[in-house]
Amino acid sequence: MKAAVLHKAGDALAIEDAPTPGAGPGEILIKVRACGVCHTDLHLISGQWNLPKLPVILGHEVVGEVVEVGRGVGNFKPGDRAGVPWIYSTCGACEFCASDREPLCPSIVVTGFMVDGGYAEYLKAAASHSLQVPKELSWLDAAPLFCAGLTPYRALKISGAKVGETVAIWGIGGLGHYAVQIAKAMGTRVVAVDVAAAKLELAKKLGAEVTVNASETKPDEAIRDFGGAHVVVCLAPAAEAILQGFAALRRGGTLVLVGLPKGNFTLPILGTLAKGIRILTSGVGTRQDLREVLALAVQGKIKTVAEPCRLEELNDVFDAMRQGKIAGRRVVTFS
Ligand SMILES: [Zn+2]
Ligand SMILES: [Zn+2]
Repeated sequence: MKAAVLHKAGDALAIEDAPTPGAGPGEILIKVRACGVCHTDLHLISGQWNLPKLPVILGHEVVGEVVEVGRGVGNFKPGDRAGVPWIYSTCGACEFCASDREPLCPSIVVTGFMVDGGYAEYLKAAASHSLQVPKELSWLDAAPLFCAGLTPYRALKISGAKVGETVAIWGIGGLGHYAVQIAKAMGTRVVAVDVAAAKLELAKKLGAEVTVNASETKPDEAIRDFGGAHVVVCLAPAAEAILQGFAALRRGGTLVLVGLPKGNFTLPILGTLAKGIRILTSGVGTRQDLREVLALAVQGKIKTVAEPCRLEELNDVFDAMRQGKIAGRRVVTFS
């Protein structure tokens, strides 16, 4: 099969022939129809994270058609539409798996990182952690929901944001364009913050009440003028964004950290405690969160803004992503 393979950290992806996997017990084989291109892959390609498997096929927003079903699989049959998220599998038995926190499972296996992912014509996946993709969603629209949709959904869910409250989203990239719509669907007033005018324009179209260009205006001041944020979800991978988001909170506000900045940052304990600020972190969501995201998409409450690309164009897409040039999502599609 054709695949984009990472041989060594720092290398470009090699578009080459790779062995086509088969479905073992408990597994399904998926003919990949679309795979979203996630910013996290940049961390992996650059070697910022240790790579447990090399060579490796990246890609963790995968949807496609089930073509083979392994022994013991009851939830899929050939011809079904399946999707595979960042979490390839977990143990299913530990305290985290048993309590709506499966991303914390110590035995977690990650798609496109610890095992091969979806930048390939075929993907082998654990049936237990794959989901049915509703027929109402196109392949292109469905794929990015599996990480870019799921991640901000979980962050907003745990933030406790209530109807009528102000939610500020820092960073309107692939995740941010869903975050704006999810926050809107939750009945909150949405403020979008970014440094790229095109991304802010998109945020406005998707339901942001206020947009703030952080390269022109101090966003924390602008949001405080608006009454301050009850919730800030920081998706931008920059320490400066986190500090600005913190400063934009109202008393009793909640800061949810999702983006991964390089290095450390400092927040004042005095202001945090006196103002009753909560600081949370959020990674990916659970399978149940993903079902809820898919349901919102089927209801038309969140729409995917995506542009298709070919496997051969992946390295160019990552270059554009490094330069912050992508609004919405790029999705590798296979005919
Ligand atoms: Zn991702
Ligand atoms: Zn577990």
